[in-house]
Amino acid sequence: MAGSLIRGIISRGVGGLYAVRPVFDGKYEPGTELLARARGSFRIQNITPLVGDVVTLAPADEMNEQAEPVHGTADRRQRGKKGDVRVDWVISEISGRKNSMIRPPLANLDYLFAVIPAASPEPDLLTVDKLTVIAENYGIESVIIVNKADLDRRRAAGIADIYSLAGYRVFTVSAETGDGMDGLAGFLGEISESGTGKGYVSGAFAGASGAGKSTLMTHLFPELGLATGAVSRKTERGRHTTRHVELYPTDAGNGDFWLADTPGFSLLDFTRFNFLPTDELPYSFREFADSMGKCRYRKCTHTKEEGCAVLEKLSRGEIPPSRHESYMKILEEQRSVPEWKRKQM
Ligand code: GDP
Ligand code: ZN
Repeated sequence: MAGSLIRGIISRGVGGLYAVRPVFDGKYEPGTELLARARGSFRIQNITPLVGDVVTLAPADEMNEQAEPVHGTADRRQRGKKGDVRVDWVISEISGRKNSMIRPPLANLDYLFAVIPAASPEPDLLTVDKLTVIAENYGIESVIIVNKADLDRRRAAGIADIYSLAGYRVFTVSAETGDGMDGLAGFLGEISESGTGKGYVSGAFAGASGAGKSTLMTHLFPELGLATGAVSRKTERGRHTTRHVELYPTDAGNGDFWLADTPGFSLLDFTRFNFLPTDELPYSFREFADSMGKCRYRKCTHTKEEGCAVLEKLSRGEIPPSRHESYMKILEEQRSVPEWKRKQM
């Protein structure tokens, strides 16, 4: 391998070390994983590689940097019986990111699959709406999965209508009976072949506990074995709760779909919306977008004003009432945090 540069995707990062899955000709070679560390100059430039980054690896001895052993890596899977790990590769370059998040620490996420149960537990629309708001802000496409349709068909259809009207792609399924799962699998195949320009397509599943995320993932990605659910469950109890994230190549479609597994989204560690200025909130509801700039008052908050284009659209039945309610609740949450405090979060 000496003298050659390798392109790959960071699939895991623990304690300053990164597991990189090499990609050749746009295809991932199953089973291979290289251990790398960031080049020294990244630290000076304040650049931190993230899971999901598309990176270039160079052999450490050619980087004019010592391939020093990293002492006591926190990752058990990479650690030998005892002691240090020799790291032969250095991340020499990080490709331009489509987006990046701090919690969970993840780059280049394309899709967020928001899972909501038709029943048991009681569906929580506000949680889904928060997820879509976050996703809109990062340029991540939300896909709504209404699960457990077998338990309450009418409720499932009602929820599906809300999100179709809001402008999202919706799948109504039962992960338990398999109903509707072909459509969802087909969609994963479609998007995996769509090509997002960065070399791979990724998605994460999010939603309240008990919504059926593990069951769905096990059904959709049998090739991952029980690893996915096992990892999530383990980390939910573990130390890295919201910060643990791992990217798995899957067999979906042409094999270009990567699953980001993280409890981070589901724990809704972003309820504070610290990154989001209050006046941008309405833009994060995509069905409000075409009303923007059409309200009578320039500083319209779209809550009770006369001549508000959003409220007019709502009264025409073109905005789902639950979505506007969520907007009001999130706005209320944002306003309860003083501006100076928001900046510190
Ligand atoms: P998670 O917490 O979101 O990962 O949810 P799980 O996948 O662990 O599912 C929670 C419970 O709901 C489990 O007992 C599943 O067997 C059950 N479950 C998942 N999907 C369905 C479904 O479509 N229908 C029914 N009736 N139960 C489901
Ligand atoms: Zn308005």
